[in-house]
Amino acid sequence: MKAKGGAISAALAVRLDSAVSGRFFHAAIISGGSEAQRELVSEALSAAAVCLAQSGRPCMSCAGCRKAEEGIHPDILHLRVPDGKSTIPVNSVRDSLRELALKPGEAPRRALVIHSAELLGVPGQNVLLATLEEPPGDVLFLLLAENERALLETVRSRCAILRLGAAEQKGGDELPNQAREILSAYRALINSRGTRGRAEGRCELLAAVYRLNKLKGSQIIEIASALRRECVREMVEAERLGRDARAFAGMERAAAEAIELAGSNVNAGHIGGRLTAALIEAADRFS
Ligand SMILES: [Zn+2]
Repeated sequence: MKAKGGAISAALAVRLDSAVSGRFFHAAIISGGSEAQRELVSEALSAAAVCLAQSGRPCMSCAGCRKAEEGIHPDILHLRVPDGKSTIPVNSVRDSLRELALKPGEAPRRALVIHSAELLGVPGQNVLLATLEEPPGDVLFLLLAENERALLETVRSRCAILRLGAAEQKGGDELPNQAREILSAYRALINSRGTRGRAEGRCELLAAVYRLNKLKGSQIIEIASALRRECVREMVEAERLGRDARAFAGMERAAAEAIELAGSNVNAGHIGGRLTAALIEAADRFS
């Protein structure tokens, strides 16, 4: 399980720097989206927590970031369902919290990532709650859950909620899921307000486009074609309502470029990076 460096982390850093400074939260639930998206955001956030740079965290070049990327940072702890079990045992929760009570080994902060947090069960959540009520100042708690509502209200109320893919989902059933996710994240970004809202929108868009890395050229062409069709539909609708359609024109161009690259056998990771950059640029310019 490796965090992806390069374009993704550089853009994510905009938001994560302020997130991990402790001003926004010491605990967050990352919900919605796909498991891969939630993992990506938790990897980037925990890297930011252990990053040694003064700003622009995660910098992805310091010793802390490099260890986080390799999955070997001693200050990033993981709590997950053990093999052969169906829930996270209460004793494992206690063990992790005991370990966190120790001072950071080498990073300014430590991170505890709880995978499938809904499988903590009520006893496990109550043990965690006692710590969340009086959290150690140098620990970032990240709870990954498909739906944050599966967690106790008492736990939720002590966490910031980073909901991926939360934007309104329009578009017909003929739209492939990944195209729908990218479109939904793009809409969220162009409708976002303020520095923090915009940074959150970027995070969501990056998580949505990130999944393209694992696809074949033909699949990318299918998704980008679906995006183009949807953009044309949006542009027609905007015209009818007398609204500004430039943001969707920008997305249409970005999707057209992705199709061209996929047709010339450029690798998926590169196309995903280009598409992300082009979409963020279009959203920034026209929102
Ligand atoms: Zn760093």
